[in-house]
Amino acid sequence: MTVRLRPHHLLCVLTYMGRGYSPAFTGNLTKIAGRLAAGEAVDIVTGPDDICAPMLDGHDPHCHRDSVTNRDHAAARELSPLLGCEIQTGTSLVLNTNIIDRLRVAFASNQIRSACAGCEWESLCSSVAVGGFDGTVIKGNDLQSKAEVPFSPA
Ligand code: SF4
Repeated sequence: MTVRLRPHHLLCVLTYMGRGYSPAFTGNLTKIAGRLAAGEAVDIVTGPDDICAPMLDGHDPHCHRDSVTNRDHAAARELSPLLGCEIQTGTSLVLNTNIIDRLRVAFASNQIRSACAGCEWESLCSSVAVGGFDGTVIKGNDLQSKAEVPFSPA
C-alpha cells in the first residue's frame, strides 16, 4: 500500500496534531499519519488525495479549487530542490525521520511555506513549528533549534 498525497500535504503532515475540519477528517488523517510514520511510501498525485477523501462528499469541496491547486504548485516548487527530486505526479518517496527533520527545519525557517499563504491553519501551524513540533502525530528526531521568526505570507 502507498499513501496518495498531493504536494502541499507534505507540509500539512509535518504539523498535524489531531486538529482538522471534522471528526471524519481527523480520524482519516490520524490513520494516514500513522501509516507514514510506519514507513509506508508516499505517491505524489494531482488533485484530491487520501487526506482529502472525507471532504469530497460535501457540497463544493475546496479540494478542487484553484487556490488549493496553487498550494500544490508552490509546495512542489520549493520541496523539489530541498528533497533532491521532482515533486510531481508519480514521484514516490518515504518520509523517514531524516526527511521529516529536513522538512521541519525548512518549514520552521519559512523556506518552504509559500503554499501556506492564506491558509486558515497558518497560525496554528506556525505555533507548532515555534514549539519544535512537539505533540505532532508524526515524530522526527529531536530538533535542536526552534523557530523564532513567525511566518509572514509573501
Ligand atoms: S498552514 Fe495550511 S497549507 Fe501550511 S502546513 Fe498548515 S495546514 Fe498545511
